Amino acid sequence: MKTLLRNGTVVSAKGERRADVLLEGEQIAAVGESLSAGDAQVVDCAGKLLFPGFIDGHTHFDLEVCGTITADDFASGSRAALRGGTTMVVDFAAPDKGQSLAAGLRRWREKAEGKTACDYGFHMTIDDWNEDISKELAEMMEQGISSFKMYMTYPAMMIPEGDLYRALLRLKALNGVAGVHCENDGVIRVLTAEAKAAGRLAPWSHPRTRPAPLEAEAVGHLLRLAQLADVPVIIVHLSSRESLEEVRAARRRGQTVYVETCPHYLLLEDGVYDNPDFMEAAKFVCAPPLRKREDREALWEALRGGEIDTVATDHCSFTAAQKRAGRYDFTRIPGGLPGVEHRGVLLYTYGVAAGRITAADMCRVLSENPAKLYGCWPRKGVIAPGSDGDIVVYDPAANSVISAADQAQHTDYTPYESWETAGSIAQVYLRGRLAVNRGEVQDVQGQFIPREKNQL
Ligand code: MN
Repeated sequence: MKTLLRNGTVVSAKGERRADVLLEGEQIAAVGESLSAGDAQVVDCAGKLLFPGFIDGHTHFDLEVCGTITADDFASGSRAALRGGTTMVVDFAAPDKGQSLAAGLRRWREKAEGKTACDYGFHMTIDDWNEDISKELAEMMEQGISSFKMYMTYPAMMIPEGDLYRALLRLKALNGVAGVHCENDGVIRVLTAEAKAAGRLAPWSHPRTRPAPLEAEAVGHLLRLAQLADVPVIIVHLSSRESLEEVRAARRRGQTVYVETCPHYLLLEDGVYDNPDFMEAAKFVCAPPLRKREDREALWEALRGGEIDTVATDHCSFTAAQKRAGRYDFTRIPGGLPGVEHRGVLLYTYGVAAGRITAADMCRVLSENPAKLYGCWPRKGVIAPGSDGDIVVYDPAANSVISAADQAQHTDYTPYESWETAGSIAQVYLRGRLAVNRGEVQDVQGQFIPREKNQL
């Protein structure tokens, strides 16, 4: 099967150029001017931008949180991802406490296999430390799991800091890389207990029990441990200006620090938690919580300046009914926002079209950097001969409106309801096959992508 995408503007992290792209089988066969069509099906892409398929390095599909399971499993989540131009997700596998990493990986591969429409990989969560886990990390690397996750908060998942340090040293020896959820758990617990004792049980208390200094403190804390271990780390879902300052300080010391943020931290603010309507506030409950305008502005500035490496969604979706479990106690609201479907249009609209970043910047943080950081470059993340035929055809003229009534993700709301978009995604190709046409997801099958070490 051959497809010739003719006359589009091919975007890379370096810039844009007019070129034809020939897809043959599962790969890109050629990129250049006036390619001959031969027996290929020709698609006119004049006026359209061609991005390498977006990679979402932070999703949670089919995950149990607060005694309930995310609204999206790998089937619905991956279809929503494709509609949003995301041709690969890296989700989080986790062992149960006391289980082996292999058992955790097996469980997640079973959740995903045969159901997932886009390509996928897994980060492995490390929430415990012993000789067996240390040995298993090498096996994980061999099986294409080259990135790991550790939590400094959440009692069910957090790892004591001595063990976190040991894990960092071991990952250094193996060329693995860890992403860390940074929030100061001890003080969050104190603030939460105070709020509950005072009867402040509405979602209003959520951001007030997880304030920005507690994220920044944990970022700084982690980065000092990483300094001592002399190992690069990823700060996942960085949300605030103060946390950025901790990253800058570490980089000035010569450390390698990778930073991920999410569309909701770039676009939404903490005023939503003051809404007296429970659901209107609860639907924005996530950790870290949404921050202030000056934080958003600092994040955009950092994105433009190359200080932020990736934008991922932390997609962790719940319906209104599920969120209502916290009707009388904000700590029982399952935390997380849906977002996997709208990252591309949001970044284009409020980044590129708004003049805050360039299309090349967008390509860097959605495609190229995640492919490098998560070890699947240049198979993914670039439009070049030999790479997978993963292409997003973006039509900058086809403006649209985001609405829960028109989404594939299994939630009955979107945080971006009625937001206008500058352009929209016309087509998505997954390994050479048409995967989405004008919002219609085709019958495509994703593959597990074994990954190698970080190349960023
Ligand atoms: Mn997450």
